[in-house]
Amino acid sequence: MKNTIRKRTYAAVYRLLDRVSPIDGDCGKLCGSACCCAGEEDAAAKDLDLGIYLLPGEDKLFAKRGGSFEWNVIRAEDGDFPDSWRGKVYFIRCKTPPRCERRMRPLQCRFFPLAPHLLADGALKLILFPMEHLPYTCPLISERYPLSTDFIRASYTVWRRLIRDPLIRDLVAYDSRDRNTDELVFLDL
Ligand code: SF4
Ligand code: SF4
Repeated sequence: MKNTIRKRTYAAVYRLLDRVSPIDGDCGKLCGSACCCAGEEDAAAKDLDLGIYLLPGEDKLFAKRGGSFEWNVIRAEDGDFPDSWRGKVYFIRCKTPPRCERRMRPLQCRFFPLAPHLLADGALKLILFPMEHLPYTCPLISERYPLSTDFIRASYTVWRRLIRDPLIRDLVAYDSRDRNTDELVFLDL
């Protein structure tokens, strides 16, 4: 899929997000790394697909397919993506969760438990990921842990940049469209 974000921009984004984390310390100790280790059965129970998809062009950072991940390719037209998405979407699965090559973990892992949300007027917000779309319980969400301000700000900065790409903006708009804003938890910046 064509996208406007260069490899070096993605690399800078990875570096920025390497410097922050949702809380001070390893949140995986709170939950046994639930977001890394949710299995097929957990997903089947909620009728969810497992796997981490890469944003358009994020695959440019991975010179060699493989490493910590199993790689799969689907056609965007066959998945739950905006109409503007056409062609290849890369899905990866971790071979030995929760261990991975940390500096190469994909953006979806780095933002979690935050998600971008576009309001009707086009304003970008950050929300806590809606739990009903998860096959596991994240205590940072369920117990409303206070998240690091640096993490929130860095995530917002990155999303503001990413949605300048039309395909990524379409994705965020697509994911935002059916959310009930009264049920969302918005993060202060
Ligand atoms: S983000 Fe949530 S589910 Fe994932 S390791 Fe941290 S606390 Fe656990
Ligand atoms: S890439 Fe790493 S952080 Fe992300 S789900 Fe896999 S094991 Fe967890």
